[in-house]
Amino acid sequence: MTKNSKTDVLVPATGALAAGPPTDPDRNCPRCPRLVDYRHAVRAKDPAGFNSPVPSFGDASAALLIVGLAPGVQGANRTGRPFTGDYAGDLLYATLLDYGFASGTYQARPDDGLTLQDCRITNAVRCVPPQNKPLPVEIHTCRPFLIATMETMPRLRAIVLLGRVAHDTMLKTLGIRAVLAPFAHGAVHDAGRFKLYDSYHCSRYNTNTRVLTPEMFRSVFARVKADLAN
Ligand code: URA
Repeated sequence: MTKNSKTDVLVPATGALAAGPPTDPDRNCPRCPRLVDYRHAVRAKDPAGFNSPVPSFGDASAALLIVGLAPGVQGANRTGRPFTGDYAGDLLYATLLDYGFASGTYQARPDDGLTLQDCRITNAVRCVPPQNKPLPVEIHTCRPFLIATMETMPRLRAIVLLGRVAHDTMLKTLGIRAVLAPFAHGAVHDAGRFKLYDSYHCSRYNTNTRVLTPEMFRSVFARVKADLAN
């Protein structure tokens, strides 16, 4: 990455690390001891589940990257596809289908035939964390996979950040000072060749408490769609 002195943003050079670090952790990634212990505990209870770091979903040629928090224990950690099988995925995939960022039918299974259109989904942390709460050190340890993922996306322009953890790790990834880009639902931050779109996370808690309504969520993707059309 190179530093753009005007914007204080690290701008990835397209293809600079084309043969560089892996975009997805190894299935038995040992980097975060607490998450490894939890993975083994969940695996023992549900040996048929995926129970490994969850890879990104969608093509590297996409212009839109959506960054979530971490796999849910009953969702992505069980099925192996981000947001698939838990409540957050119901709202996310319905919205992506409505705005043409997905096609097919979402059936909460990785073999439902759903495909993403010009869109890719990843998580700030690839392993399921206890209580859905990754530690700062785990977010830091997993960041190289986010960076490597972005560096394989030559057309990347729009990044939707689902929640504060995704927002904060993206600012660190791009070298943007937090005061220059405060998190707020609906906020859009310019970051070199990217635009960052903040959204409250589409978790069951946020939607049940109406912190995030389907309309608020849709408005983020409406904005992305309009911007990508320009
Ligand atoms: N499932 C994911 O893959 N990520 C989230 O952030 C939430 C649920």
